[in-house]
This record gives sequence, C-alpha cells and structure tokens, in this order.
Amino acid sequence: MLNLTFVNQYIANLPSDNLTENYPRQVEHAAYSVATPIKVAKPQLIAFNEDVANMLDFSFDDYTPAELAEVLTGNNLTESMQPYAMCYGGHQFGNWAGQLGDGRAINLGDVLTENYGHKTIQLKGAGPTPYSRTADGLAVLRSSIREFLCSEAMYHLNVPTTRALSLCLTGDKVRRDMFYDGNAKYELGAVVCRVSSSFTRFGSMQLAANRGDGALLQAQAQYCIKADFAHLLVNSDNQEQEFSAEVYANWFEEICQRTCKLVVDWMRIGFVHGVLNTDNMSILGETIDFGPYGWVDDFDPNWTPNTTDAQGKRYRFGAQAQVCRWNLCQLANAIYPLIKDAKPLQKCIDDFTDNYQQQWAEMMTEKLGFEQYIESSDQAIFTQLENLLASVETDMTLFYRKLASFNVTVESAAESQIPAKAQAATNDKLAHFHDCYYQPEQLTAEYQNNLNLWLTSYSDRLLSQNKSDIEGFDNNARIKKMNAVNPKYVLRNYLAQQAIDKAEQGDFSEIHTLQKILQHPYDEQPEFEQYAQKRPEWARNKAGCSMLSCSS
Ligand code: AMP
Ligand code: MG
Repeated sequence: MLNLTFVNQYIANLPSDNLTENYPRQVEHAAYSVATPIKVAKPQLIAFNEDVANMLDFSFDDYTPAELAEVLTGNNLTESMQPYAMCYGGHQFGNWAGQLGDGRAINLGDVLTENYGHKTIQLKGAGPTPYSRTADGLAVLRSSIREFLCSEAMYHLNVPTTRALSLCLTGDKVRRDMFYDGNAKYELGAVVCRVSSSFTRFGSMQLAANRGDGALLQAQAQYCIKADFAHLLVNSDNQEQEFSAEVYANWFEEICQRTCKLVVDWMRIGFVHGVLNTDNMSILGETIDFGPYGWVDDFDPNWTPNTTDAQGKRYRFGAQAQVCRWNLCQLANAIYPLIKDAKPLQKCIDDFTDNYQQQWAEMMTEKLGFEQYIESSDQAIFTQLENLLASVETDMTLFYRKLASFNVTVESAAESQIPAKAQAATNDKLAHFHDCYYQPEQLTAEYQNNLNLWLTSYSDRLLSQNKSDIEGFDNNARIKKMNAVNPKYVLRNYLAQQAIDKAEQGDFSEIHTLQKILQHPYDEQPEFEQYAQKRPEWARNKAGCSMLSCSS
C-alpha cells in the first residue's frame, strides 16, 4: 500500500533518542525520537492535492480514497516508513522556551523523488510524542483546513512554503477551548499531510546550542548543509570542500537571504504569519506552521491576526522583517560555536537590513508597474502610498488590482493641473477605487486630495519612464506586469472560515472550490468573481474572520 520507498536519510544521519517509549520528557543529545502515529477511529480523505502527489511520484488514481486515508492519517504504516518526531527548541514571543519539538507532528520518513530531490512526509495531528508536554498531539478540523488551503495558496502565489498533500478527518473528537475562556467543546479531529525538503527550524540549532551540545549542533548543521545546501560544499574551482568556518558562514548568509526573500513576498501579498517564534522559522526560508495567520484585508501595518499577540503586537504585519532579523540573530548566536568569529555573522545580519530595504523597494517597483527602481523618486512614492492606504480602511489586494486597471494617460496627468477639471477628475478616480474602501464616510476632502496628488505623481512617474513615446504609453503591458505580482485571489480569513463552517456540517465542497481558485491567484476567474470581493461587514469581528487564537 502506497508504493513509496522511504529512504529515511534524516534518521540514518542524526543521533536518536535512546528511549523508544512514548511519554513526555526532555530529550538530550538527539535530533529526534521514534514516534508512532496513534490509530484513528474512522479515517476519511476530504481533500487531496494531485500536484504534490505527482511531485512524490504517485497519483490519486493509483489508490482508493479509503486506502489513502488509512495511510495519510497514520493508521496504515507501510514497510519502509520509520516514523519520528523532531527535537527542537525556540524563542516564543521573545523568551527562550527551552525544548519544544514536534508535539503533534510525526514524520513518516523521507522519500527520494524522481525530479524534486528528497522530501519528508509529515502528518500533523497524528497523536502524542515525547514532545507533547501536557497536550494531546492532535489537531482539529478548522486549523487543518486553514493549513491545507493556505500552504497551497502560498505555493501558487510563488511564495516559498511547505506543501500539503492531503486533509483527512480522523473520526475522533478533540477537546478544545477555542477562546481560552473556560468553554471547551469537542471538535472534529483531522490530520494534514505536509511535505517539505526539510522541517528543520532555527530552533533545531538553538536547542543543541543552548544545552552546550556542540556535537549535536555540528551534526545537525552538517546534515542540513549536506542535504539541502550541498552547493556550499563545492568551491569556486568546482572542488568538493570540507566543512569549515567559511562554509558555515556561507550557510548562514544563504539562510538570511532566503528569509529576506520570504518576508518580502509576505509583504507583497499582505500575509501575516502571526506566530514568528524561532521554532516556526524554517531553515529553508519556507513559510511553515500555519497557525493564527491572516491576510490583511484593509492595509494596516499594525494588524496582527493572533489574539495571543493582541497586546504587544510583536508579530504585526509591518514588523515581520524586523522580527525575522531578530530571529536570525538568535540563529547566529546558536551557530556561533561552529564559526567562533562573530564578524561574518554580524555582517550577514547587517546585510539583511540593507537587502531587505533594497528587495522591498524592488518588490514595490514591480507592484506599481515601474520598469526599474529609481531611489530618488520612488522612495517618496512608496511611503506616500503606504500612508494613503493606511489613512482610510483600504483593501490592499483590491487596491493594487484597481491601480493596475487605472488608465494612465497624458490627459490624466495634465488634467489635474487645471483646477476647474480637478474635482470631476477626482470623482472619477474615487469611483474607480470605490470597491476598495470599507468605510466610505472616511473619504474626506483631505483624503480625496491626497489620493489625487498621489495618483498624479504615480502617473507622472510612469509617463516619465516612457519619455520617447508619451502618447503611446502602453497601459496593457503595465496591467499585465502588475497583475503578475498583485494577486486577485487570496485566502481571505472569512473565505477560509466559510469553508470551515460548511465542513463542520459535513459539506467539504467549499474547501475544494477554494483549492481550485487559489491555484490561479493572479488570473481573472470571472466565474469566481465573488471570491475576490472585500471582506463583508458581517465578518469584521466574527471569530476566525478577523482574529484567531492559537488553539488548534
Ligand atoms: P505552534 O505554536 O503550533 O508552533 O506550537 C508550539 C509548540 O507546541 C510545538 O512544540 C508544538 O509541537 C506544540 N503543540 C502545539 N499544539 C499541540 C498539541 N495539540 N499537542 C501537542 N503539542 C502541541
Ligand atoms: Mg510550530
């Protein structure tokens, strides 16, 4: 059953916990513990991802849904699987939390794929492990739907991410106090099968370092580099090279670069991770651990979807780069013993800030449809735009699509210079962006003036890059370019919640519909226009649609 051959290179290369019993404990000198998924009552496959199956070299059609459900909940372990839970620590909300580990994730093993290298297959919600502490190791349907849909949405938005193969109900009930208010209730249990080349986190290195376990730190770093950064072991003369301080420093540099790209992408699409603890930071720079994440509906750099973070807002939308830099500093501290020189590490951290600014500016350049970034003019345009977007409740996703379809003409730039025509032109502009606003009463004369001014400088800027042929400014080419980086369809929180509400009543159709739409986030999909609308007012303060707890 499930004809995949697991090669299990992770456990073959890293030290194991000596104990094999499954009870909560501190696990030292080991990268993982053996752990077996618990048997579930009535596995049922409710969503499947053919794309990921193909990546793993099998097809949905090769099996019955019942067969797949048995394997993808962990009920049926195939012969070559050697399930394990990973040991790691982390900083949670800025404080060192000690050992955390896979408390409810169990890796079935690693496979070597034909075209995509090695992949680890992990079940989330498969039962307790030595890292479960006082919790049950299980996951509920609502959070599993959110992870299944969101990781795939990310992938199709061209954002680095772990993938999701399947979503199954377990048939078991799971008790959760969703609002942490003493009203626990039973919910449907579920398991997501997720896939990545590596589930190693910043916290994997941190725990070994914190315990002064240099041997484990080195083993984990070396395995990580060999498995996923092998190009760093080849020098400029194409010769294989040994591990050295330089190799480790290059490794850190690449982790910084990947993390930088990741945050720039999140900012581009309006994604807020919500729990950027160092145990939720992938060493590969992928989006990992989809908990109380959210998409900004109205553009608000101070917004966090996570109720646990409502006070300090450590993980708010606009602070993600800063907090990832802080997380990288913790990783730098952890791997320092491998390099024994702070300078190269410090340089990478300093470069992170510069690289982020540069890449963020390039990303904004693309979002706005400029041909290239011109610092002297464009920084002001970006800042003014962000102020404009935040000054009234403006839907970020809709605004950028509307901006693309805003017709930039020589007239529009010139018209705004003639006072008599200014108000009529402003009215047209407001009408063009009308759908983006949540509270039309906020559109004061001052706002209208600011919008007008900004659109004028935007138009001028676009026309100036086309000096030789102002009359022939190609709006269509600009629209195409802008729409390739500004998504039309994102997993708005209320859309996920609607799929959850239906699924909890036994109707999984909305999961499948969203799965289909989110495969083409940048395309016009006229039949799904209603999924590209701004958040409806009923969802403004509804649980799951605006804020979420960590309970999952
Ligand atoms: P998270 O915030 O979801 O990344 O989880 C933080 C830590 O708590 C990780 O070590 C998880 O494995 C663990 N954890 C979260 N939920 C559960 C659960 N239901 N059972 C056991 N461990 C859990
Ligand atoms: Mg986590």
